[in-house]
Amino acid sequence: MAMEKTLVIIKPDALNRSIVGEIISRFEKKGLKIAAMKMQKLHEEKLREHYAKHRDKAFFQDLVKYMSSIPSVLVVLEGKEAVEVVRKMTGHTVGRKAEPGTIRGDYSMSVQLNIVHASDSVEEAKKEVARFFSEGEIQHYSKLDFDWVYSNDEKK
Ligand code: UDP
Ligand code: MG
Repeated sequence: MAMEKTLVIIKPDALNRSIVGEIISRFEKKGLKIAAMKMQKLHEEKLREHYAKHRDKAFFQDLVKYMSSIPSVLVVLEGKEAVEVVRKMTGHTVGRKAEPGTIRGDYSMSVQLNIVHASDSVEEAKKEVARFFSEGEIQHYSKLDFDWVYSNDEKK
């Protein structure tokens, strides 16, 4: 199976809680490759598009307000089955219910302020990466540890 790309948004609460580095570090240590990264204060309009499926929910306005309050750190991660791997590392939406060992389980008590966003399917990931990054912002490079993260068979 080819390498996948997935979008992670390190949310405003993570910046305020000074854990951005720790979050990125977890993904790096797992063996995921950083394909793109930037800091950006997300516009309400973009967020309304990104969270369109929650448009009619009671929390929608509050979610958009919180997500646009201060900058976020946007990261594109690459790896084999990266979408599923990153979703698993992220954990249950509700911080209080998330398993210890997951990011939300280790750092969050909230439903809304839950530290990270992660794409939830391969199809969505493609759309989300394109929503926040231009083609030119995605970096293509060979990473030194590649041969030690995957077996020969897995690299195909
Ligand atoms: N959210 C919220 N209240 C809720 C459910 C979700 O504020 O009752 C927020 C929360 O920040 C969550 C985001 O909306 O991460 C998107 O919700 P979704 O159900 O897609 O959760 P996720 O895919 O992020 O786990
Ligand atoms: Mg979701």
